[in-house]
Amino acid sequence: MSFVVHNTLTRRKEPFQPLEPGVVRMYNCGPTVYGRAHIGNFRAYIFADTLRRWLEVKGYEVRQVMNITDVGHLLDDADEGEDKVEAQAKKEGRDPWEISRHWTRLFMEDIQKLGIQPALVYPKASEHIPEMVEMIEGLLAKGCAYQSGEDVYFEVARFPRYGRLSGNTVEELDAGARIEVREEKRHPADFALWKSDARHLMKWKTRFGEHGFPGWHIECSAMARKHLGDRIDIHTGGEDNVFPHHECEIAQTECFTGAPFSTYWMHTKFLQVDGGKMSKRLGNCHSIDDVVAKGYEARVLRFCLLRGQYRTPLNFTWAIMDESKSVLENLDDLAARLRRAMTGHGAAASAESGLEDVEQCQAEFEAAMDDDLNTPRAIAALMGLRSAVLAERLGVSAAAAANQFLVHVADKALGCIRVEEESLDAEVERAIAARQDARKRQDFQESDRIRDALLEKGIVLEDTPKGVVWRRK
Ligand code: AMP
Ligand code: ZN
Repeated sequence: MSFVVHNTLTRRKEPFQPLEPGVVRMYNCGPTVYGRAHIGNFRAYIFADTLRRWLEVKGYEVRQVMNITDVGHLLDDADEGEDKVEAQAKKEGRDPWEISRHWTRLFMEDIQKLGIQPALVYPKASEHIPEMVEMIEGLLAKGCAYQSGEDVYFEVARFPRYGRLSGNTVEELDAGARIEVREEKRHPADFALWKSDARHLMKWKTRFGEHGFPGWHIECSAMARKHLGDRIDIHTGGEDNVFPHHECEIAQTECFTGAPFSTYWMHTKFLQVDGGKMSKRLGNCHSIDDVVAKGYEARVLRFCLLRGQYRTPLNFTWAIMDESKSVLENLDDLAARLRRAMTGHGAAASAESGLEDVEQCQAEFEAAMDDDLNTPRAIAALMGLRSAVLAERLGVSAAAAANQFLVHVADKALGCIRVEEESLDAEVERAIAARQDARKRQDFQESDRIRDALLEKGIVLEDTPKGVVWRRK
């Protein structure tokens, strides 16, 4: 079956077809590293990761690039306001480079905890200034951009397709209150490719001037081109990226290369929390640490976010996290029961019995994922399989087929079910042995540390007269 994806550019679902057979070039707009990523951001990154996983299940080689924005993203997302990283640096009295390094490191840790597979490369904007300057010079040479003092602007009137992605028109933008009329611009909708500001801390000397820094949009155009080439298959981001960010990226890249930039543009709907927008003021911009502090494993958050299709509204509450935890545990239980049924425990007498249940579940799961990553429907299909296992309808062969599917298709795509119990067992046994050693040495600090580390993974140790036993919290 063909994989159908919703393309913001055409506003329809379309069969996925890469430019090069078997290979997918995908660019994901990544974090601006001035603070801790919140669960809303993770909705966007988990979507990108699930998309990549599903493409891999379907046999594609995915070349995935996610940028790190460490300079040039201004507070209003357009040409005005302070640089987000510099503003944070000033607030904390620290160096902006130190701020971006710190938050990049935490971002990498967070995505690993969420089972997000590493991209091929995480290019940093500040390390691609020559590539950006090359594009800006090209745009100037083609007459699509103009210099105004030491700033350089893209002239939207030179790109007739401007507005196609977002549905905005240049006329509307002209009247729009969002865009302040500035004398240095020929048209209020023109946007900065390069800006100069002597007070800026992160700045570069170029032929445009002494103290400049790039516009946020040109960064992604230049990094996508450097790491994936002039044309790519998929470009993703959250719904707020459609305008101005992605609209501007299209204008710059397509004016520069003369070819369509990305075939598919895919956008995640915003996550809401407690029925409203996330805001620092309401204290609901939860981080992974907040989730873990409440006693949930990070994978439960991943699963919770996957229970909503990426283009439908999703509301986060702690009650929904509780529900997600118990549904995910049912899937862990499915995996455990399948492993047992493969060895004959709780299996139907005839080996082939239940094969049709497995086939049906697999077909439903794949059809759901092929339909623009309908993860909630795919998860529901797995529940059908669980009913069959609980009713002991699966024979040994059917259980083996189901296990194969669960490990290599379903969890390869969802990335949060506990399918490898054996390896966890071994890890826990090793930790218990190390703790016993520590106790023998009377190193109680170390033995407590090991116990606490296991507890964080949801494993409770109990000292019994027969020795140490462990169970899940
Ligand atoms: P930023 O670090 O602000 O540039 O945002 C990083 C990514 O997270 C972007 O793709 C945003 O569109 C996305 N994003 C921000 N807030 C949310 C949210 N509440 N729900 C889903 N995605 C979001
Ligand atoms: Zn971007």
